[in-house]
Amino acid sequence: MQSNSKQEAGKSPLISVVISLYNEADGVLNFWSDLREELTTLTEFCFEVIWVNDGSKDKTQVFIDEKIIVIIENNITHCSIEFSKNFGHEAAMIAGIDNAKGEAIICMDADGQHPPAEIAKMIAAFYAGNNSVLMERIYREDEGLFKKWLSSTFYVIINKLSSIEIRNNATDFFLISRQVADILKFNYREKNRLIRGYIQSLGFTLKVLPFKAPCRLSGESRYSYTKLVKLALDSVFAFSNKPLRISIVFSVLFILLTVLFGGYSLGMYLFGDTPPSGYTSIILLLTFSFSLLFLTITILSLYFEKVIQELRQRPLYLIKRLRVGNTRTSGDIHSSKDNDFSIFEDHAIMRVTNHDLETIANKQLQSCNYID
Ligand code: UDP
Ligand code: MG
Repeated sequence: MQSNSKQEAGKSPLISVVISLYNEADGVLNFWSDLREELTTLTEFCFEVIWVNDGSKDKTQVFIDEKIIVIIENNITHCSIEFSKNFGHEAAMIAGIDNAKGEAIICMDADGQHPPAEIAKMIAAFYAGNNSVLMERIYREDEGLFKKWLSSTFYVIINKLSSIEIRNNATDFFLISRQVADILKFNYREKNRLIRGYIQSLGFTLKVLPFKAPCRLSGESRYSYTKLVKLALDSVFAFSNKPLRISIVFSVLFILLTVLFGGYSLGMYLFGDTPPSGYTSIILLLTFSFSLLFLTITILSLYFEKVIQELRQRPLYLIKRLRVGNTRTSGDIHSSKDNDFSIFEDHAIMRVTNHDLETIANKQLQSCNYID
């Protein structure tokens, strides 16, 4: 296995940590305290923490602005991306990946269910030569029976339908190399997406590591059942075309039924005592065939809707404001008005923002690569 060599001597490799947040005000400070403790012990690396606020309606952004990104550690810089509204977890992760500068990028949740203590193992697996490191949940403290059943049913269906194997307990806690990040950034821009599925389907070296997920630091899962169903459908559409072929099965079934029923009716007409009185059977057959017809049309419409979404080429997310920390002073606490951050307001289109970020983040990278 080829190892991912660390940067030149004298420079500390930059690792980006992307954190998605939606209404996480109650737990984010505790999470940051755990993350900070872990990152500051990994002194041979420099970290760029990217906070992606996915349109939170609580005080998440206030805490990020006033209590988190103003604290600059020796080996940590920050970037804050605030969406114009809630675009979903997948959009939040890709926004972080799009703007990450590190040679490896780690994505994790902000609710404490992805323990920062695992980061060291992930980085070690990356430098052992793996392009991606996927964290597989072997135990989830807060998972109810219904959710567990729902999740395993989803994986059975998706694995039956798609040509790739998606691991049952794979999570959105993963590390990807710059090479994989660039593929996701430039080539995998579908609106219906499942990043953890892409990572498993790209074919580079992938290391799977087990971990135990504790309870959320606060509150309930931010994935409502509607969001979960949407994610499940998006994943089916993203990874399988088999449902499109369901109409073929129905038509064969109906041809068979018609032949059987036609044969039976003809037989009764020619040789039977009474010709078949067909009212009930006709109604049953009609309702049955209409339900199959509409099911097929629904599947086609769902795919069609996704095709239209892709054709529109709208951005995956809109950024209301982003802040990039440019300077670092060991242990100092800066006020957000101290001019330590470049603030971009209302840069709505992702591509514009990326362009601006490129220059600033490069400057940031230059200062960050060295540890004093
Ligand atoms: N999240 C997000 N956008 C959403 C829903 C969730 O960015 O629309 C974030 C959330 O704040 C958390 C992570 O995604 O950091 C995972 O969400 P959650 O913990 O609610 O999901 P679960 O662990 O129940 O799968
Ligand atoms: Mg969670």
